[in-house]
Formats: sequence, C-alpha cells, structure tokens
Amino acid sequence: MRRKLAAGNWKMNGSAAALDELAAIASGPEVNCDVLICPPATLLSRAAETVQGKPVAVGGQDCHPEVSGAHTGDISAAMLADAGASHVILGHSERRQDHDEHDDEIRAKARAAFDADLIAVVCVGESLAEREASNTLDIIGGQLSGSVPDNATGHNLVIAYEPIWAIGTGKVPTTDQIGEVHDFIRTRLERRFGAGIGRSVRILYGGSVKASNAAEIFAVSNVDGALVGGASLKAPDFLPIVAALD
Ligand code: PEP
Repeated sequence: MRRKLAAGNWKMNGSAAALDELAAIASGPEVNCDVLICPPATLLSRAAETVQGKPVAVGGQDCHPEVSGAHTGDISAAMLADAGASHVILGHSERRQDHDEHDDEIRAKARAAFDADLIAVVCVGESLAEREASNTLDIIGGQLSGSVPDNATGHNLVIAYEPIWAIGTGKVPTTDQIGEVHDFIRTRLERRFGAGIGRSVRILYGGSVKASNAAEIFAVSNVDGALVGGASLKAPDFLPIVAALD
C-alpha cells in the first residue's frame, strides 16, 4: 500500500514571513498521508525548525551531483540533509529549461540524493508541442529511463508527472490523460525494477492542482498524491488539497 504524499514546491518564493504559512500548514488537521514543503534554500534550516515535532517534512528544490567542492552557488545533497531536508525535487521542468538540465545530470543528482539518504522527487513531463505531436509517452519513457538511477526503490524515489503546459497555467489534463501517463509510468517502473519496487514507488501529479480539482485528480488510478506549486504557498489553499488526499 503506497502512502499518499502532498508535496509543495515554493520555487523562488518566500522570505522569513513565509514561515508563518509553513507553521499554519504544520498545524493543520491530522491526516493519513505524508506532507512535504520544499521552500527556497535560504529558508530550509528555519523551515526544518518550524516543522520540528510536526508531521510535515521539508525538502530542497535541487542539488549538485557532488558532495562538496568548487561549485559556486550550488548546494549538495549532503548539505540539504544537514539543513534538515528529507527530500529533494530534481529535474523540475523549470530547471530543465532555465538551467538546461538533461536526464544524465538529473540521474547523477538523484544518485547523490540517495547517497545522502534523501528521497528524490524526480519530475518528468511533456511540452504542449510534444503532446500535440502524440509524443507524450515517448518523452516520459525517455525521461524515466534517463533520469532515474538503477538503485531506485520505493523508499528513495518519488516520480512527479508534470505536463509543462499545465504548470502555473490553470490548464489541467483530463483525468483520462493523467491516468494514461500514470499507468504508463507504473508499467515502466515495474518492467525496469520488478513488481515489488515498481509498485511501491509513488507517482505524483503536478500542474495547476488546487482545492477545487484535487479530489477528482486523486481518484485517478496510480495517482499517489500531488506536487503543488502556487497553491502550496498559503495554508488556506494547501490544506484542502492535503485533506482531499486523506
Ligand atoms: C510545479 O511547479 O511543480 C507546479 C505544479 O506548479 P503549479 O501547481 O503552480 O502549476
């Protein structure tokens, strides 16, 4: 039985005052699912202190593949763990676009995350042009085999399916479209890692999830939760999404 996960990606948003929102999220009703917030790196240590003793985890939004060294501006997985993170988002489409990240680099980052005992939330997703050209499953299949290391398990890996055209746009795929991709990802994971591991990896949907559409999305087969951007910034927006997963 896979435990559901509601994950928030704050992206490049939030200063110290945002910790009040995190505290409000951490003080929400008790739920039978995992809750994760990934604030900007500047807030990570204070975020970890804010949720101490509460059933909310904090994570990073990226890591460097190496443990330490001459990489100005970068943060290693070990540093995220040291700051209190238990998870790290990797291969988000904004990083693939803004920083030209490719699958092999994301795979190296995921390996580094595993070595630091972090859970890697590896993002995959197609562009609108790729979907319109009927290439969605080819793209997702390639990203999965390229970005996910061989030593992945249900304990160290979460996949987030995030169609690029649905992120921050208010556009959401139909439940059939979401189900098709999530079933495909599940089949690929089972084929590569065997039924035991393949069935234990959680697959999140991400892209314009909000309180009003969460329950419908969470009812789709092989949707084990959500990676939420905009609607994770404020407790009154995020808590109903968490509740829909409960
Ligand atoms: C995201 O950035 O991962 C995301 C899903 O954003 P939003 O929920 O705002 O579409």
